[in-house]
Amino acid sequence: MPAIALRSKQCSCGRQCASHAMRCRACWRRAQLAPSRVKVLTPPAAAWVGAMIEGEGSIWPCPNVSNTEVETIATLLRLVGDGCVSYSLPNKLGKRAVWRWQLYRKRSIIALLPQVIPYLTGKRALAQALQEEVLRYYG
Ligand SMILES: [Zn+2]
Repeated sequence: MPAIALRSKQCSCGRQCASHAMRCRACWRRAQLAPSRVKVLTPPAAAWVGAMIEGEGSIWPCPNVSNTEVETIATLLRLVGDGCVSYSLPNKLGKRAVWRWQLYRKRSIIALLPQVIPYLTGKRALAQALQEEVLRYYG
């Protein structure tokens, strides 16, 4: 069934979508504006999430963290309370599969970034730029 869904160019709503996309632009836009489920983090939790983004993840195009330890990614999801987790099989022999958490919905990004920005160092400026851009278009 996933193979059929990947090849399909029809969104679950019935509209057509681009061959690389899983849903049409209207459904994508609606999903982007879904309410945030991001929790109010305690300072230690915010520091941990910030450090994970700083050390194991990136900010652009959305906050994300990749790790081979599923427990690390599960903890991230549990603390933040929001985001999508995906799993990539290794593309080379001897490499390990990678778990990836990402927060792509705009309202969720707006809810998380102010909580973790105080704990970012090298990625702080980029996080502030992302926050400003998301607020300008969706705030
Ligand atoms: Zn659709």
